[in-house]
Amino acid sequence: MPSLLPKTYESSDLTDDRLGSLTEINLESASDDADPGAANSKPDFAATEENENPPPLAGANVMNIILVAMECAPWSKTGGLGDVAGALPKALARRGHRVMVVVPRYGIYSEAKDLGLYKRYKIAGQDMEVNYFHASIDGVDFVFMESPDFRHRGNNIYGGGRVDILKRMVLFCKAAVEIPWIVPCGGVCYGDGNLVFIANDWHTALLPVYLKAYYRDNGLMKYTRSVLVIHNIAHQGRGPVEDFSIVDLPDHYLDLFKLYDPVGGEHFNIFAAGLKTADRVVTVSHGYAWEIKTSEGGWGLHEIINDSDWKLQGIVNGIDMTDWNPEVDIHLKSDGYTNFSLDNFQTKKPQCKAALQRELGLPIRDDVPMIGFIGRLDHQKGVDLIAEAIPWIVSQDVQLVLLGTGRADLEEMLKKFDSQYHNKVRSWVGFSVKMAHRITAGVDILLMPSRFEPCGLNQLYAMMNGTIPVVHAVGGLRDTVQQFDPYNETGFGWTFERAEANRLINALGNCLNTYRNYKDSWVGLQRRGMSQDLSWDNAAKLYEEVLVAAKYQW
Ligand code: ADP
Repeated sequence: MPSLLPKTYESSDLTDDRLGSLTEINLESASDDADPGAANSKPDFAATEENENPPPLAGANVMNIILVAMECAPWSKTGGLGDVAGALPKALARRGHRVMVVVPRYGIYSEAKDLGLYKRYKIAGQDMEVNYFHASIDGVDFVFMESPDFRHRGNNIYGGGRVDILKRMVLFCKAAVEIPWIVPCGGVCYGDGNLVFIANDWHTALLPVYLKAYYRDNGLMKYTRSVLVIHNIAHQGRGPVEDFSIVDLPDHYLDLFKLYDPVGGEHFNIFAAGLKTADRVVTVSHGYAWEIKTSEGGWGLHEIINDSDWKLQGIVNGIDMTDWNPEVDIHLKSDGYTNFSLDNFQTKKPQCKAALQRELGLPIRDDVPMIGFIGRLDHQKGVDLIAEAIPWIVSQDVQLVLLGTGRADLEEMLKKFDSQYHNKVRSWVGFSVKMAHRITAGVDILLMPSRFEPCGLNQLYAMMNGTIPVVHAVGGLRDTVQQFDPYNETGFGWTFERAEANRLINALGNCLNTYRNYKDSWVGLQRRGMSQDLSWDNAAKLYEEVLVAAKYQW
């Protein structure tokens, strides 16, 4: 059987065994005909419906792109990262790139085939095995990494003790950085020609470090680049300095990880090392790109971010239009809900509102403004501000629907609101993608009082669905929700400048006033929101520019 590695990367050339002896890898299911020299050739895009038309918008800059993330919708999702990992790669593939997503396999995904490729890694002295599954969907290679440590973790992706979490991330990144050599997609490995990795958040921030330490420092993968995307800088992979022994790097790498801050003292910080090592850094909005450079918004990493300013760019996330477009949304096809569009939302959206009221057992009234909240229940999302404002909210003729999961005390609080104000409030404690879609389509107003919000996707989904956002003007919320101006009939919603309950009440009060008394303005707000091009296509083009810069601008 021919090796799938180009000659220069045969394992015997390596100074250590990190590329693995290929004898360990069962390549039975890989094509024997695979031409090593063709490792960088483009896949047969014609195989998928989406690519019936020639896609190479990217022209001379066609790249091999591997996005690595701990979650990817629809298979795994705890928040916006899952949505991004599911949608951005498809948009990049539509631009003509060869794109792979690498994500853990938490469950049985029927569309993915077992490649029969086994590989072992030693993590903190323990042998850990991975195996790969593959599916080609919408022109993207989805590669699912199977390991006993990932199995059945779908509901608790980031759970467990600190060391166990760290070991999982080390395993994932060590294995992912080798994938271009060992996982053939369509019979052909990606190789390192024109290759860029996109790592996401601290969980995969070790990948740029491994790329450098295991390969580039050894004269290998010289032209491969890494881009690290910050979706949320508040989570960093912190621990005691001794955690360095787990990540399996040469001693001189320790300094990259060491960080001092007044709270934790000197500690080990994975995000810090990833940010320093990545060739480019992206964050998910312009507002957040600015905020993380401040001591308030950088959560201790602001100095590193400032030092990395030359390689930092904010790019606002897009929307997966096959998923969140009310015209085709599959969650609106039953139980009295209906799809709707810019042409018919004035008659059809009320049908969704009635279906939502029916489903939740609320009085079915079209005239009552229905307000929604969807999000993780934690300090970031500001659900406690809604709690402070709730006496005022329920004093109004409104209905309030809260969907969330997270901190136990906040879950209890939501349940209490439901029972205390049952004629007006419904709380859905749990993670329900279907309910998230139905609430987004059915309610009139979406509240997002987040204390900080790197991008925020729910306000984008809301606008797409003719639902008016009322948001704290931070990060991506400031970027995307322009304040309504009644004189010029511009803007998309209401914003408030400080994360305080009275500010939220003021903004929501103005919003309710417009809903009740200025119907034309309301419809104008809905129409403007729905008319925006919030698709991933724009954002993918900007990502492409960053990837090109990572490759060619030094
Ligand atoms: P974050 O990534 O900080 O959680 P985002 O606004 O970027 O916030 O993305 C949140 C994503 O998670 C959205 O797709 C939203 O609909 C979804 N989501 C959040 N909470 C829930 C929940 N309880 N049930 C279903 N979907 C949820």
